[in-house]
Amino acid sequence: MIEVKSITKKFGNLFAVKDFSIGINHGEFFALLGPSGCGKTTLLRVISGFELADGGNIFLDKENITNLKPFVRPTNLMFQSYALFPHYNVFKNIAYGLEREKLEKQEISIRVNEIICKTNLTGLEERYPDQLSGGQKQRVALARCLVKKPKVLLLDEPLTALDKNLKEKMKIELKNLQKQFGITFIIVTHDQDEALALADRVAVMNEGQLVQVGTPKEIYSKPKNLFVAEFIGKMNFFQKLKIEGNNFYFQDNSFITLLENNFENPQCVGIRPEDILLKANGNTNYKFEGKIIDIIYHGQENEVIINSKISEEPILIKCHKNQELILNTNISLYCALSSFRLY
Ligand code: ATP
Repeated sequence: MIEVKSITKKFGNLFAVKDFSIGINHGEFFALLGPSGCGKTTLLRVISGFELADGGNIFLDKENITNLKPFVRPTNLMFQSYALFPHYNVFKNIAYGLEREKLEKQEISIRVNEIICKTNLTGLEERYPDQLSGGQKQRVALARCLVKKPKVLLLDEPLTALDKNLKEKMKIELKNLQKQFGITFIIVTHDQDEALALADRVAVMNEGQLVQVGTPKEIYSKPKNLFVAEFIGKMNFFQKLKIEGNNFYFQDNSFITLLENNFENPQCVGIRPEDILLKANGNTNYKFEGKIIDIIYHGQENEVIINSKISEEPILIKCHKNQELILNTNISLYCALSSFRLY
């Protein structure tokens, strides 16, 4: 539905976005994820028309919209700050875009009331933005975009202004609203958990370029390179002592036989904390010894830091709250060869 083709945007000599191409499907919840300054917002602003590209094209349903003004594009951008009008009440804020389109008063009223109901704002119509909570303000900003029935809604860090609990609640609401309206959502975020929880597909960006695109599961379980592996979730990296054939030697001279070795000069292997187990099972075929040096309580699932001769860096594992672990004791740990990835 949306085709971003070789988009480049420069500010002076800086490439904010460089030769970026992506296809986004109709009705998809798509996330642009990357560290601060990697060009996510710039790309979103180019798609919305608030910024003009220096090169490349954007097609929406095969129509070239690259040079269209923002307000004539079938897209709508929800700003990070929400940008509500402080002197308008909730109803007027939501109605604003329709009034600009010079629609009949009655139609405006029907559409605004319908969206107020769907976004759970009933009873707040007369309130002004400074009389609303963070979550309510966010819903008004969403309602104001959705009421215009855009084909694509672009959201710049929509949850950043909310506290942790509200963020969790709004994640669910955002996902429900997207399903209910069937509109394509493109969200910009630097928060990995947010992108993985919300999106059907995630594009990971770095220094203006696309690094990897895939479903949250693909990105998490098969990060393409060291950058994605470090950026998404937590990962233990073990530096190599040496590699001989398909054997990867850890710092203590123990080794694993890698299932595949397609890399020219791999530096390390990576393994997710949850793939290092405290008990052997049918899949685990590598065992190493370690000592518990710290336990970080998170409630349901805790993090345990281990020192081991296989690595100079401490190793992170995860364990359930019911698992009894004692500080400064030695333990055995088990991994499946298939859990290791080479970088
Ligand atoms: P953040 O997550 O911090 O918002 P981002 O990934 O959205 O970052 P952008 O805001 O797109 O990144 O910025 C990309 C790069 O372009 C940055 O180096 C930024 O300083 C630069 N940049 C953005 N807008 C402008 C501008 N109007 N003029 C000059 N440089 C800019």
